Parts: sequence; C-alpha cells; structure tokens
Amino acid sequence: MIETAFNPCLSCGACCAFFRASFYWAESTLGRPDGVPEHLTEKLTPHRVMMKGTGGTTPRCVALEGDIGASVRCSIHPLRAGVCRDFHASWQGGEHNPRCDDARARHGLPPLSPEDWETPPLPDLPRAA
Ligand code: SF4
Ligand code: SF4
Repeated sequence: MIETAFNPCLSCGACCAFFRASFYWAESTLGRPDGVPEHLTEKLTPHRVMMKGTGGTTPRCVALEGDIGASVRCSIHPLRAGVCRDFHASWQGGEHNPRCDDARARHGLPPLSPEDWETPPLPDLPRAA
C-alpha cells in the first residue's frame, strides 16, 4: 500500500489483509534502528520475519488502521518493509498489477482502472457578481 495526497489505496487496504508480508529479519529494528518495529513482527523462518497478523487464513496486518474499502492507513508507513514499498497498486504509473486486483476482489472491491489515478477536476471559481 502507498500513501500520497490522491491515491485509491487510502480507501482500500485490501493487500494488507490478503498477503503474508514477510521479509529478511534485518529489515526490522533487530537489524537497523530505522527498520520495521520488531514488536510488530513475528519469526517465520530462521532468516525471515513477517508482519504480525499476516500469517493466518484471514490475514490483516497489525499495522493497518481503519476500515478496508473505506478509509485506511499504514501506521508505520515510513518504516514499512521493502515487500510493502515494492507492491504497486494496479495502473499506478500505467502498469497493471493483477495481484492488486486479487486482493481487492477478496474484499469485494472492483479492480482499479487507469481512470482511478486521474486527479478529480477542481471546482469552478464562483462567478463575480
Ligand atoms: S506494514 Fe503497512 S503497508 Fe505493510 S502490510 Fe502492514 S499495513 Fe500494509
Ligand atoms: S490492494 Fe491495490 S489498491 Fe488496495 S491498498 Fe493494496 S495496492 Fe492499493
């Protein structure tokens, strides 16, 4: 999930409640001071950890706040792991991502289209009397 001023991800969050978010342990604060907070992770293998909440059959990352499909945010956005940074919403930058479609479908959301990335037009200025 990404967060910018105009971004369909902010009213989605489906990928954070669909995939297992796993990464090399050294991406956490166990390996670097500005890493993913270690207390939000759990051990997956001797070399990998995952975000808590993303390992079961009904995953939801512990760092995800809000209501999926309505309004969400990642509470550790500046510190999130590479696996999260590298996941791009479909048609962001013009590229289709079927995995984004899959996550949205699991939560009853339609796939994004290129039009979802178009900035809404600004309202007209009021006319002078
Ligand atoms: S860390 Fe943030 S971006 Fe990554 S899965 Fe969790 S809520 Fe989503
Ligand atoms: S599923 Fe796609 S649109 Fe939804 S938050 Fe993730 S990247 Fe964004």
